[in-house]
Amino acid sequence: MRKTKIIATLGPAVSSEEKIESLIKEGVDVFRLNAAHGHVEEHVELMNKARKISKGKRAVGIMLDIKGPEMRVSEARIRFAKDGDEVTVGMGGDIEINRPEAYGVIREGTRLLIHDGDIEIKILKKRGELAYGKVVRGGIIAPHMGVNIPGAHVPIEYIQKRDLEFMENMKDVDFIAASFVRSAGDIISLRKEMKRMGMDAKIIAKIENGEGVENIDAILEVSDGIMVARGDLGTEIPVENLPAIQKELVRKAMGHGKPSIIATQILETMIRNPQPTRAEVSDIANSILDGADALMLSGETAIGKYPVEAVKVLAKVAEKAEEMVTHRNLEELRGTISECVSNAAVLLAKEVNADAILVLTRSGKTARLISRHRIPMPVIAATYSERTLREMSLFWGVKGFMVEKFDYADDAVKKAINTAESLKMVKRGDLLVVAGGEPSGIPGTTNFVWVQLVGELIARGEGYGEQKIRGRACSDGPCEIIVVDELTEEIKNAKGIIVKSRIYDPELLKELASGGIAIVAGVGDVKIEGEINIDPVRGLIWR
Ligand code: PGA
Ligand code: MN
Repeated sequence: MRKTKIIATLGPAVSSEEKIESLIKEGVDVFRLNAAHGHVEEHVELMNKARKISKGKRAVGIMLDIKGPEMRVSEARIRFAKDGDEVTVGMGGDIEINRPEAYGVIREGTRLLIHDGDIEIKILKKRGELAYGKVVRGGIIAPHMGVNIPGAHVPIEYIQKRDLEFMENMKDVDFIAASFVRSAGDIISLRKEMKRMGMDAKIIAKIENGEGVENIDAILEVSDGIMVARGDLGTEIPVENLPAIQKELVRKAMGHGKPSIIATQILETMIRNPQPTRAEVSDIANSILDGADALMLSGETAIGKYPVEAVKVLAKVAEKAEEMVTHRNLEELRGTISECVSNAAVLLAKEVNADAILVLTRSGKTARLISRHRIPMPVIAATYSERTLREMSLFWGVKGFMVEKFDYADDAVKKAINTAESLKMVKRGDLLVVAGGEPSGIPGTTNFVWVQLVGELIARGEGYGEQKIRGRACSDGPCEIIVVDELTEEIKNAKGIIVKSRIYDPELLKELASGGIAIVAGVGDVKIEGEINIDPVRGLIWR
């Protein structure tokens, strides 16, 4: 089972229902709708399609990417600039920027970058409203291309009119990806605005410039996750700093127990080619090793020639890379009761070598806090909130499912295990570590963790042997599993032996077990008959 989550940007290349369906089938966990392009109606339509197609299949999240103070070329009166050309920037000049506030920070010496830095203009002087610059690196200039002014703080209000229009029309999204977050204040003002319009999506702070990097600790406090937006970030800061910053941002997000997303140029060449480059494949694996929860495809799916193939490649490469992921030692993290209980669940799962951790969660928080430890066993998360289910689509290694609401933990656990069994997420004989909150339904109250077997536990004792077995048990007669009060004579031709007495010769049992027999001894005076299972490693007998 793949643990890393996949985000795919929707766009013209994948706007049909068939394409969206194939993307879901190949493993997309979250769809991004990028407000930078197109009309709001087109995005609403795509969102509705994605919702409709995923309904009843798999919980797929929807992420609306708002652009915030992102700057773009709004008017290009020259189409091409050669190295050394003189150009004017400003209202009525050769190049206009969609955020007029930018003109205020442009002065002599400013580096103006266009289209991910492909074009560089150095400002020489400013006369009145116009800035005069020299083209350092030339190329085609067109409206809508991104503009970056590295190191500058452009005093632009975080929330822009166009974004508001998108939000008003797409209130039902699960995530808001907030572009160009500069400070915690940006997130707080966005949250206020969302509250005002009755939106309760999770906010993913896109870190795309030096300011965002500098303020990462405060931003992580108030956001629900981050995106390392390498496209703009690599333009705003020296590109050679990017790998270290990526690692640092991901590490910090993990410390906060919040998901991180790596974005941009994940499989860039697959926009045109059916195969990835070796460097791209290696970058995906390294991002997962850094600790990213999710990787995001942009142009690869939105406008690419091979959108479905790109998702396939990403899924395959991610799953393979996960074999290298090791359990994170986060034991120094001690904080809230929820954190401590989550840490305990992880330690317990390791100790008993559990087959999975089952989380009962209303808000998804417990699943998130357990996920960050990067344990090898699956984290299956039961919730009765459809929204939480979709939000968990972003958490590494977490597989969510819906359950009915119950007031008491033991009822809720029973029901969750039954549901998980019918969904084939667990099977009879699996040993689970269960974590949740009692009373259930109050968010943020993770306060219990226990060990539970899937199936009806009949007895437990000291186990000998390696292999789980299943068979018919009886005290006399020819059975696959022989039940005896005491082991007085050697038993041959049995798959399993159960010894009731607590007095037995361990050396004899070890010898029998080395011959391939599963044994549990010292189970006490319990009635054992019929079709049963033995787990000799854990010393469990169950039905
Ligand atoms: P964008 O953000 O695709 O919305 O520009 C991602 C990035 O800058 O890397
Ligand atoms: Mn960006």
